[in-house]
Amino acid sequence: MRVIVATGNPGKLREFQRIFAPAGIETLAQKDLYPDLKVEETGGTFRENAFLKAQAVHRLSGCAAVADDSGLCVDALGGRPGVWSARYGGEDTPYPEKIRMLLEELREVPRQQRTARFVAHICYIAPDGERMEVEEACEGWIGYVPKGERGFGFDPIFYVGERSFSELSDQEKDAISHRGKALRELERRLQARGILSKTQ
Ligand code: IMP
Repeated sequence: MRVIVATGNPGKLREFQRIFAPAGIETLAQKDLYPDLKVEETGGTFRENAFLKAQAVHRLSGCAAVADDSGLCVDALGGRPGVWSARYGGEDTPYPEKIRMLLEELREVPRQQRTARFVAHICYIAPDGERMEVEEACEGWIGYVPKGERGFGFDPIFYVGERSFSELSDQEKDAISHRGKALRELERRLQARGILSKTQ
């Protein structure tokens, strides 16, 4: 099957492609089909924003569309930045600066209170408009310094155990990440409905 990935975030797109490919899902990128499309994320929840993004592409294309709205929820900050993660410190602020600001906010926070989770809400809309939704989280904590070179966004300061997401291989991240878990659950549901054939 084929699906349009409704995101303009290249880091997310790479993860969709590498998680979907082994399941036999071919991905088309929103930016290649609709380079000028910009969806306002006016929702107050991951669920609402994921729907807005998938719906915009589904309406334009009439094809299957899938979107992810995700973010980093830090317990010591009452769940912030959460749905505002991409806009934390300003939409165009580079990630090294956003990371510096977040670490500064947590300067006085001890290790036990630095718990956090990445959350991903996935919204899939079939060509006929039927919707499937999955939400998953990955538990971790915010380190004291950025580490590692891989990944995107807040990966360098999100630690699971003693390693940051940026220190994990693609396979290691996908096996435990919010997005990896959510997309594999979506695959299972698509298979259960006979929309996606089972891979060996
Ligand atoms: P969205 O495009 O509004 O869903 O923004 C998601 C934002 O959450 C990203 O721009 C990152 O700041 C953050 N985020 C979500 N998932 C990840 C991840 O897997 N690694 C690092 N940052 C992430």
